[in-house]
Amino acid sequence: MAKVLEVDKDNPKSWVKYTKTSCKTCVATCCSMPIEVRFEDLVRLNFITEDDLVLPLRKVVARLKKEKVITAYRPEKGLFAFKQTDEGKCRYLVGNRCGVYKTRPLVCRAFPIEMGWRHGFCPKKTQDSI
Ligand code: SF4
Repeated sequence: MAKVLEVDKDNPKSWVKYTKTSCKTCVATCCSMPIEVRFEDLVRLNFITEDDLVLPLRKVVARLKKEKVITAYRPEKGLFAFKQTDEGKCRYLVGNRCGVYKTRPLVCRAFPIEMGWRHGFCPKKTQDSI
């Protein structure tokens, strides 16, 4: 009998098929994965204001790093690495739920169907499996 892989967020081969009800019983494993966000996401989350729009991007990046909002910027993709908490989670995770659900970044809306390491699969874990 084939050995069942334990779900590991860093190993997409171990991920399970995503369904519409997957999130209901999950401990929000995906919200402890590193994410990259777009400029528009940072505007919607109020990290970038209208005043910043006239500044050179390098100044905005430097400020966001100083304020510990991001850890890096990838200019070739236009993506900002969102800083996680010391526990390795998203700053917006409240219990197992997103605290900014309506304004969450694009990557969070599109994962795991259109974005992510393995489309259609996610690192779901339930309270019983951790
Ligand atoms: S913004 Fe919300 S959905 Fe996205 S990683 Fe953070 S808690 Fe999860």
